[in-house]
Amino acid sequence: MRLSAQSTVLVVGAGIMGSGIAQVAAQAGHRVWLHDARSGAAAAAHAKLGASFEALVGKGRMAADDAAATLARIEPVDTLADARGAALVVEAIVEDLAAKRGLFRQLEALVDAGCVLATNTSSISVTAIANGLQHPGRLVGMHFFNPVPRMQLVEVVSGLQTDAAAADAVFELARAWGKTPVHARSTPGFIVNRIARPYYAEALALLHEQAAAPQVLDACLKAAGFRMGPCELMDLIGHDTNFAVTNSVYEANFFDKRYMPSPLQREMVDGGLLGRKSAQGFYRYPDGLPALPVAQHDAPATASQVAVHGDGAIADGLEQAATRALAPQGWGPARHRDSGWTGLLVDGARLMLGDGRCASEIAAASGIADIAVFDRPLAPPQAGAAVAYAVAEQSGAAWRAQSAAWLAALGFAPQRVADTPGLVVTRTLAMLINEAADAVLQGVCTPEGADAAMKLGVNYPAGPFEWLAQWSAAEVAAVLDALDAHYRGERYRVSPELRRRAWAAAAS
Ligand code: NAD
Repeated sequence: MRLSAQSTVLVVGAGIMGSGIAQVAAQAGHRVWLHDARSGAAAAAHAKLGASFEALVGKGRMAADDAAATLARIEPVDTLADARGAALVVEAIVEDLAAKRGLFRQLEALVDAGCVLATNTSSISVTAIANGLQHPGRLVGMHFFNPVPRMQLVEVVSGLQTDAAAADAVFELARAWGKTPVHARSTPGFIVNRIARPYYAEALALLHEQAAAPQVLDACLKAAGFRMGPCELMDLIGHDTNFAVTNSVYEANFFDKRYMPSPLQREMVDGGLLGRKSAQGFYRYPDGLPALPVAQHDAPATASQVAVHGDGAIADGLEQAATRALAPQGWGPARHRDSGWTGLLVDGARLMLGDGRCASEIAAASGIADIAVFDRPLAPPQAGAAVAYAVAEQSGAAWRAQSAAWLAALGFAPQRVADTPGLVVTRTLAMLINEAADAVLQGVCTPEGADAAMKLGVNYPAGPFEWLAQWSAAEVAAVLDALDAHYRGERYRVSPELRRRAWAAAAS
């Protein structure tokens, strides 16, 4: 099974996705037939593509010859019968199992035995769509992302009966179209929509318990390298759409509590607060995300002993920052690499990198009242980056103020949040890694596939396994165990894949 630029492609469904797929296929040199059940829709999509090519030519981003030739290769067709002879069909119709099954059964009666059938479904099981086909092995998921011409990722999804040859042919074709394909098994949410769930779920969980304001969560995650914070991103996607995807992943996993939607999300959907499209979600539009108030912090009070604890890049960054902060006083911090925690010791009070536990829990366990925990920063920490921190209930008033003053002196923009386990970035990254580990455990994708999919499909600054390589499986598992002990329930259970990696690292 091989698809080449000479293969004719039939795209069924001339909506947002179908017209984008037709464009990309035609740009790669294919003759493309475009069909839609709604009379006139394919011709309208063709005309719209023509207008957008013209605009690109006007801006000098497409050659006039290319635009004309690409458009000429796309031919609207009125009936499916016109499409005999296609070597590949890409279906991008309504997201409905019965409609998709019906269409593929109809197509099977028309196309040649060697024709590959692809579905752009974003959430329906490829195995289920193939049920009832005479040759279910030739049906493959070809999951593009919106907007198709710009988004690099294509998830090539195999159902239980998909032939490897058909999946490989689609994979190679996507590559020839200039995309980055990643193999995936047909499981709820495939790769991206599944691994991304905790990015929204952790923000919603924190909001549900009033741990922080939406703009604080957004600022902290953007400081960790994400292009958009979870709240502004949910506002952009639309809470109705995001809630529907969350529900479908939850239901498809037989109501595994790990994927349970948030009551807050439901409340917003019921109230019509859908985000940008309804002018109000977490934020009001067109204004959007408000700027964080600029807090002024006094310099820390003069201390008699300051020491940086811990090993690794974050501790090294803290040492450099503490050295700079203390330089005007003519001295520098001590360094203790083997103490088992990372952070700053200031005259017996601790400013600790969060390990998943609440500050109050650490204070209770250690018998030291003056404890503050801060969130996982990028390594090396970037000046002015918003970083969440929390202070133990047992802490004295002086350390409450001094912990923020020290974070500011180290170059952060400290954001006080409620004393919640895993703060903001720590729990979010740990949960994204955990979900990716489960996806690998279940054969949904490889670690490299997960990294590529999350970077290209949702613009993450790094892949979950890249984060894991900079962190450690044992520490990520410890964060999740702390969250699990705190909340109970299934959401934070550690993936067996992550647990095994933690054990393996401990043994080596
Ligand atoms: P859309 O509503 O823009 O377009 C769907 C088109 O299919 C419409 O023009 C409709 O008339 C046509 N159609 C419906 N039933 C048909 C049938 N039986 N035969 C022929 N044409 C039919 O939808 P879209 O956003 O382009 O989504 C299409 C598919 O792509 C869905 O399965 C969706 O889940 C998936 N998808 C969407 C996105 C996205 O961001 N919009 C991203 C990835 C995947």
